[in-house]
Amino acid sequence: MNLILMGLPGAGKGTQAERIIDAYGIPQISTGDMFRAAIKNETTLGLQAKAFMDKGDLVPDEVTNGIVKERLAEDDTKNGFLLDGFPRTIDQAKALDQMLKDLNKKIDGVIEIHVAEDILVERLAGRYICRNCGATYHKIFNPTKVEDTCDRCGGHEFFQREDDKPETVKNRLAVNIESSAPILAYYQKLGLLQTIDGNRPIDDVFADVKHIIDK
Ligand code: ADP
Ligand code: ADP
Ligand code: ZN
Repeated sequence: MNLILMGLPGAGKGTQAERIIDAYGIPQISTGDMFRAAIKNETTLGLQAKAFMDKGDLVPDEVTNGIVKERLAEDDTKNGFLLDGFPRTIDQAKALDQMLKDLNKKIDGVIEIHVAEDILVERLAGRYICRNCGATYHKIFNPTKVEDTCDRCGGHEFFQREDDKPETVKNRLAVNIESSAPILAYYQKLGLLQTIDGNRPIDDVFADVKHIIDK
């Protein structure tokens, strides 16, 4: 099962992806996570991506397409994968079609989590992440069950993302609203798009996600 998860920053892609990979055993391919790891490890890729990410702009397509192509060729994607944060431009969507064609694969479905912009700003401002396992929490909407302890791995160290600062968030949302519309239209035309209302409790959103996948 080859899936794409779409939605603006803060819509809940990472949160739902955690649940999807735990329930269905397919790997998550998050371009944002791959870039952040590259920056942390100070690789060439990290150096290429950092300036764009710090401003909330998109990393150029050549760079982004390259890392996805390599990742999709890995063995653990043979029973499926969940793309999160890719494609974000029409050129990326077309490049993805070609990569999958070369690998004899195709996209089975595209799930869009829809949330209004004003709510997204609040979500990003309160987001924090487990340093050990990457699980995502929110200060108000989704705190850890035990204070300072990750529900998923028991870790005690958390961080906030550099690009979740209010100054960056505005540009990130603007960039993503503009770039996502044609991609949603692209998958709609192919009959692959399923949109769900993401402004509900996390478990309710996941129930819809499961319903779509199981169909
Ligand atoms: P969010 O979790 O807020 O949706 P991501 O973690 O997916 O954001 O992305 C963070 C940043 O990484 C983006 O603002 C952009 O700079 C870069 N990035 C991630 N995915 C892509 C992509 N497919 N194309 C270009 N840039 C990307
Ligand atoms: P994305 O990966 O799309 O950028 P995240 O999954 O990181 O989004 O979620 C953004 C923030 O909103 C996180 O702090 C997360 O805990 C919180 N969040 C996710 N889903 C919901 C929801 N359904 N209701 C309230 N808060 C949510
Ligand atoms: Zn953890």
